Amino acid sequence: MSTSTPTWFITGASSGFGLAFARYALSKGYNVVATARTTEKLQSLQAEGGDRLLTVELDVNRAGAADEAIATAIATFGGIDVLINNAGYAIVGALEETPEAEIRALMDTNFFGAMAVTRAALPHMRKRGKGAIVNISSMGGQMSFAGVGAYSATKFALEGFSEALAQEVAPFGIKVLVVEPGAFRTSLVSNAERFMPSHDAYRETLAGVRKAMLDMDGTQAGDPLKAAAAIDLALASENTPLRL
Ligand code: NDP
Repeated sequence: MSTSTPTWFITGASSGFGLAFARYALSKGYNVVATARTTEKLQSLQAEGGDRLLTVELDVNRAGAADEAIATAIATFGGIDVLINNAGYAIVGALEETPEAEIRALMDTNFFGAMAVTRAALPHMRKRGKGAIVNISSMGGQMSFAGVGAYSATKFALEGFSEALAQEVAPFGIKVLVVEPGAFRTSLVSNAERFMPSHDAYRETLAGVRKAMLDMDGTQAGDPLKAAAAIDLALASENTPLRL
């Protein structure tokens, strides 16, 4: 296997944005390390991937799992050029009625998970003097609105972390890119609403937000395949922006 072929390492590649990123990279002839908690769901990539695809089980919350997955990827393809921290989910509901444990669990996956995989990949990228960390944030990482406070908090954290990291690793030739997609109909949207408010006034506000989100046409709000192409283009640029 050629080590000059770019290698993309993607978390949460079994569905939605992550799956589209994997499909895009394979279609460009890149090597892909597709990771998720459930590797069976990654098998749909096998026909497109052949020996350019490595599927690895990775729960970003499991201690030590990121180091193992990164080491396996490097042993297989010789290095990682692009790490895409995409694994994540959302909860929507009144903050007052969302259990703290749920908010902590969300922060674990969306923020600490991305941080763990980044920490695992960085020493190798530093040694090679190149690489890119792509953090999938959200429109909700720049602004927030009723019902998405917990989700936004995780993405605001990811954005702050990314901004600092970009400055820290630039001297080593490593780029950091934050992607802020709008709403797109993946399983994230249908799984999100778990803590609907019991108060009427809250309910009305959230019903308005819900309708606005469901009315959004995914193609207008940012097609995941187009997002993959935009990431690729931005990373190829000498002046890669911090945010896409
Ligand atoms: P999906 O639910 O379709 O995909 C989420 C992916 O994350 C799955 O592959 C899932 O795989 C994986 N995942 C979840 N928890 C973990 C974990 N603990 N460890 C490893 N993998 C995990 O959602 P999307 O594609 O919509 O979301 C992907 C990213 O895009 C998220 O970060 C989300 O916040 C962001 N985003 C999404 C938007 C949207 O409207 N859909 C808008 C803006 C941002 P498995 O369950 O097999 O582990």
